[in-house]
Amino acid sequence: MSDSLFADASKRLEEAMKYVAISDDALEHLKYPKSSLAVSIPVRMDDGSLKIFQGYRVRYDDTRGPTKGGVRYHPNVCMDEVQSLAFWMTFKCAVLNLPFGGAKGGITLNPKELSKMELERLSRGYVDAIADFIGPDIDIPAPDVYTNPMIMGWMMDQYNIIRRQITPAVVTGKPISMGGSLGRDTATATGAFYAIQIIMPKFDKLPEDTTVAIQGFGNAGAWLAELLFTAGYKVVAVSDSQGGIYAKNGLDIPRIRQYKTSSKGIKALYCQDTVCDIADNQSITNEELLALDVDILIPAALENQITQENVNDVKAKFIFEVANGPVASGADKILEERGIYVFPDILVNAGGVTVSYFEWVQNRSGLYWTLEEVNQRLRQKMVEETEHIWKISQELAISMRTAAYVHALHRLGEAINAKGTRDYYINGGMS
Ligand code: NAD
Repeated sequence: MSDSLFADASKRLEEAMKYVAISDDALEHLKYPKSSLAVSIPVRMDDGSLKIFQGYRVRYDDTRGPTKGGVRYHPNVCMDEVQSLAFWMTFKCAVLNLPFGGAKGGITLNPKELSKMELERLSRGYVDAIADFIGPDIDIPAPDVYTNPMIMGWMMDQYNIIRRQITPAVVTGKPISMGGSLGRDTATATGAFYAIQIIMPKFDKLPEDTTVAIQGFGNAGAWLAELLFTAGYKVVAVSDSQGGIYAKNGLDIPRIRQYKTSSKGIKALYCQDTVCDIADNQSITNEELLALDVDILIPAALENQITQENVNDVKAKFIFEVANGPVASGADKILEERGIYVFPDILVNAGGVTVSYFEWVQNRSGLYWTLEEVNQRLRQKMVEETEHIWKISQELAISMRTAAYVHALHRLGEAINAKGTRDYYINGGMS
């Protein structure tokens, strides 16, 4: 268990514990997931054969509200990964003060190998298998790697069929026409953009003097690249699963996005082309991208990209984690010693779950907001919590990651203690 992603993720909790007076009960509570479900999903393939896929859903902690978290379709999905992602969601929702606990789900597959109809049958089959585990007041799935609004729409529709009622608040990240929120597609990137805009002036860095490299040109990475490009940052490198491109004077991000978007849907729901096809830029590997001498490095693909093996190659001065868990805990320490600032996933990518929360609120009230309202509320939350975490990190002289966990632990600890602790029952204390 010691080498698992979950064990690595838990180390962040141990580090933060040094700075928070939290009850033993709360700590004990937060060490373990509340419930974990593993399912087998039978899918009739287009050639008539039957294939069984492995799926997972973990509800980590629901003390602060129904659990919330995305569903990932990827070959590496396993219980350990889903559990770690659910753990991070618990802290992320607490960091943003959302009335949710944390969850995550996933199916082990390469979704690019399935047809659209196979993907639909699989997505509906997943909901059939987990329907008793989810619900608008229990656990609310959302998109993650290689899942998108259409897949979320199928999932909600399947839940409606099972329950024989319309329940839009059971899933977020849906198409707008099915009760989705304006701004959900860009929310993760927009939240990360706000965080960058709040932090960089503290270091007297202007956008035009700031170079950026982004690993992962999917929903989060590509939108963020465009927002940064539009604000005047020099985005010099981007990559996807097939490799990356680099241009010393900055890439033409809208053109690259246009290229990737236009190639979508040739087979299944995914882009068939890669940023590497844009030939007038220098090709680089994903490893080279992580080692570029840039001001800001943004991992926006998968976890464990910066580890003890390659951490000394990193030359960026600031890392903004848009992916979940891209920096392993062992690498964290070394980056800190080298004076590289890491702004953590549970803050930087929290725009996605925040607008998912807004979508859930709109579904339940039946009153829908404008894009301006959504972004204004998102901005307010990102400013408030980023500044709060910055203050904790300055006052305690700790990293932004530890400060974010400290901030979340205060809220989680308070909620867990409110149900009573050993001190309350045995010693007559107040908590
Ligand atoms: P996505 O499926 O839209 O895009 C993933 C991107 O990563 C694609 O460009 C893919 O080609 C690239 N990629 C995959 N494997 C790679 C590899 N080995 N090296 C380099 N690039 C690789 O997914 P997304 O929604 O943009 O999510 C990206 C990350 O952001 C994930 O860690 C996810 O958990 C996190 N995140 C997403 C959201 C959201 O709302 N979408 C919210 C919070 C966090």
